Amino acid sequence: MNKNISIRLFCEVTLRVGEKISLQTEQSHYLKNVMRCKINEKILVFDNNTGEYTAEIVNIHKRSIDIEILEKTKPRYVPGDVWLIFCPLKKTRSDFLIEKSTEIGLRKFLPTYSSKTQTKKVSLNRSRKNIVEAVEQCGGTFIPEILPISSLAEVIEELPEDRILIFCDESLESRNINECLLLDRPEKVAILVGPEGGFSDSERKLLRAKKNILPVSLGNRMLRAETAAVVALTMWHGMVGDWLKKVDHQNHES
Ligand code: SAH
Repeated sequence: MNKNISIRLFCEVTLRVGEKISLQTEQSHYLKNVMRCKINEKILVFDNNTGEYTAEIVNIHKRSIDIEILEKTKPRYVPGDVWLIFCPLKKTRSDFLIEKSTEIGLRKFLPTYSSKTQTKKVSLNRSRKNIVEAVEQCGGTFIPEILPISSLAEVIEELPEDRILIFCDESLESRNINECLLLDRPEKVAILVGPEGGFSDSERKLLRAKKNILPVSLGNRMLRAETAAVVALTMWHGMVGDWLKKVDHQNHES
């Protein structure tokens, strides 16, 4: 990340060097009234399409700010092909799960509800805001997608056949995730983490009967769902995903 510039904003539009754009009202307010930015100040901006750029503030109006895109600083980097299937938790715990998973890196969130899930509500607006803030903060250039919630049966049914389902099974009957990943090294995965109440016996049976499923244990202690998501994602990146890949930021093509 460019060490001298601390402000980093996501832009919905595709960015091009030399172009001027007007920032959204909320972002303009943030720059003007919270960060007290002045004309000629530099910020970093990125889109979900071409990467990251330096930009200069060229106009400050009452409600909007115009910036000029100066030079490209990073290409777009798409994280490894991992999805996260999770059950909505209590508000701040869901926020934590979404923020931390985004920082570690994934392509898609699939909220789901199982028999012991306490709430079927997941605010897509709030989640998307959390995702964008996390990407802005961690220097990423890819915004993971979040789908509307659907039942566990539906999510499992609709999972593409070539995607391995890493089932985080708290029954502790499975082998540890590191052993399983070492053996199979699955590159296209969906990690499934249960709700605070865990999975029912019938759900566990249903899941274990599925093809392309990899039941795993995350050690011999019961983790909270959001901790389990962070641990499973981290293990996958460490053993199969992004941490094994050398990224050439100059030449990387998404
Ligand atoms: N209330 C449940 C625990 C649920 S933990 C109980 O006491 O049995 C929430 C989810 O985190 C679980 O459904 C599972 O997907 C994951 N998880 C937590 N600890 C785990 C572990 N040690 N191994 C595998 N998955 C785990």
